Amino acid sequence: MESNASLVFNREKLLDLFTHFKDGIFTLDSSYRVESVNPKAIRILRLNEQTIRGKRMPVLFPSNHLNLETFLKNAIDTKGYTEYKNYFPEYKKWFQFRAYPFENEFSVFIKDITGQIQTEQILTIEREVHVLHATQSPIQNTLNYLLKGLEKIFPGYHAGLMELDKSGKFLNHLSSPSLPSEYTDALNGIPTGLNSGSCGTASYLKQPVFVNDIKTDPLWTNCNALAVSLGFVSCWSFPLLDSKSEVMGSLGIYIKESKLPDVEEAKKLERFSYLISVLLEHKRTRDTIEFSNELYKTVLAATNDAIWDLDIVNNVMNWGKSMKKLFGYDSELKPYTLEDWKNHIHPDDRAHTFDEFMKVMSSDHLMYWEDEYRFIKADGVFSYVYDRGLIIRDEHGKAIRMVGAMQDISERKNSELMLKQLNDSLEKRAIELQSSNNELEKFAYIASHDLKEPLRMISSFLQLFKSRYEHVIDDKGKEYIHFAVDGAERMKELINDLLEYSRLFIHETSPEKFNPENEIKEVLRIFENEIKETGAIISYSGLNEIFANRNQFLQLMQNLIGNAIKYKSEKIPRINITSYNDDIQSTFTVNDNGIGIEKEFQEKVFDMFQRLHSRNKYSGTGIGLAICKKIVAMHNGSIWVESSPGEGSSFIVNFPFR
Ligand code: ADP
Repeated sequence: MESNASLVFNREKLLDLFTHFKDGIFTLDSSYRVESVNPKAIRILRLNEQTIRGKRMPVLFPSNHLNLETFLKNAIDTKGYTEYKNYFPEYKKWFQFRAYPFENEFSVFIKDITGQIQTEQILTIEREVHVLHATQSPIQNTLNYLLKGLEKIFPGYHAGLMELDKSGKFLNHLSSPSLPSEYTDALNGIPTGLNSGSCGTASYLKQPVFVNDIKTDPLWTNCNALAVSLGFVSCWSFPLLDSKSEVMGSLGIYIKESKLPDVEEAKKLERFSYLISVLLEHKRTRDTIEFSNELYKTVLAATNDAIWDLDIVNNVMNWGKSMKKLFGYDSELKPYTLEDWKNHIHPDDRAHTFDEFMKVMSSDHLMYWEDEYRFIKADGVFSYVYDRGLIIRDEHGKAIRMVGAMQDISERKNSELMLKQLNDSLEKRAIELQSSNNELEKFAYIASHDLKEPLRMISSFLQLFKSRYEHVIDDKGKEYIHFAVDGAERMKELINDLLEYSRLFIHETSPEKFNPENEIKEVLRIFENEIKETGAIISYSGLNEIFANRNQFLQLMQNLIGNAIKYKSEKIPRINITSYNDDIQSTFTVNDNGIGIEKEFQEKVFDMFQRLHSRNKYSGTGIGLAICKKIVAMHNGSIWVESSPGEGSSFIVNFPFR
């Protein structure tokens, strides 16, 4: 009884164990017919117990039934433990079978090892992809290989890779082994954003998006037609993020049934997306480096400079090909150190150039060095060079590398030297001229001053002669005397003007700041009679302060206003004086409505003795504007005229503040 009870108990225990066992268990008779099956096995096969019981076990696994027959026969023959594993497409799963024979019956354990196999396969693919990548295989090949592997591990899944374009707003198709081309073509240029399918949304949200009904899901409303027509029902998308969490694209998984991934599956697919992200980021870095290298090569080929690259840590300086072209040295000559460079600098420039270079390099922040010095060429001749370099520092600010370019500027330097010599000699000549000018000006002053006295004598004796002998000389004689007196008068005027002009060189210009209204009023007083006679209307208002010598300014205005009255046309003279100040100078304008000046004479009128009319028409000596020009020049200013014949003239004068 006791032993029976314990047997019952044990059997119950066994059944309980059987029920809760985590593997599926079948018990089979000698012809492999299923006698009993535990709930786990039913769950694994997704069949009901009635269907399973009494069936020959291999029949339940049509894709592998022959292999299973062999496996079970083996188990009975060897009376030992046997194992068999394979993929079962009818269940879309990997199963492992273990058989334990017991007399003529036996138990077979079945285990779903899909997850485990997938993990192993993923690891294998990862290894292979790393090898491909390391051997610099084109990225497209590597990505294709990876996606093919994904589709092999997850049968029935179609993978599609999209890459974000440069604008960061649109996705372009990059790779997919099994999506139809009409679909991948349609994928090009889809925008990122909500309602832009699973991929557009995942890229926008930067998180995975799982859709198990493309037809009805709101995220697909705008773009589901083609996917639906191709039979796709589910689409899961994973964003591809770079190391800074910026989106680079997305990985889409298309499935022709309604399905959501379980946690394990989602993790595995995510793992694929990480690997793809790493590859893509690498590709981008590789592209950037390749581009920079290309650029560097182009610059090297295009430049006439000798490019150098100093590895500061190892003290090795490499030179570009122009080193040979410019300076005759073989650029392959190695090793070339910093000291070698120093020794090629002209002894007179060496210490200064090298010290400055070291100063910049040993600072912890300066990034740029430049200098001009003489560099010895292979033929022993020195060239002037302009050399500059960019410093690359490590995270502590220590200079580790420097890249630079040396330019032969001998031609420029020699021209500069020649120019300097020319300038020096011109300066010398100008000083000589200045002093001879000074002499001449002094001479003009003295001469005109000394000429006045004998001229006064000629004039007064002529007057005396005229009054004493007028009654005894005939009309012709009187006419001659008149000409002589007139000539003497003109000569007096000329001498006076010349004196006035040369006086400008004798007296120093001592400028001051003042409002010139009084000076203008003074000029109007001087011309009181002329103004009355001609009915001239002279206006001025709002005059600004000026920085000039008062007397010379008065003299200038006297000439300009005097001329404006003198060179009047038929019309009543209207003269307007205005001024304008800016930050650097005062500008005066004397505008009239007189006869004006032809364009071709507008510069000449400022030369000495330049007159445009006969003395009979307008009196004058032609020196007034020359005086104006001299005064303005002495104030470092400028004067010019703008005029239209028959309409009037504007004389414009600038006086700088210093
Ligand atoms: P002058 O008045 O003694 O002849 P200037 O040197 O003052 O000498 O002037 C030179 C010439 O410029 C004048 O002969 C005249 O032809 C011309 N000129 C000067 N000012 C004016 C003006 N406001 N309108 C027209 N012509 C002028």
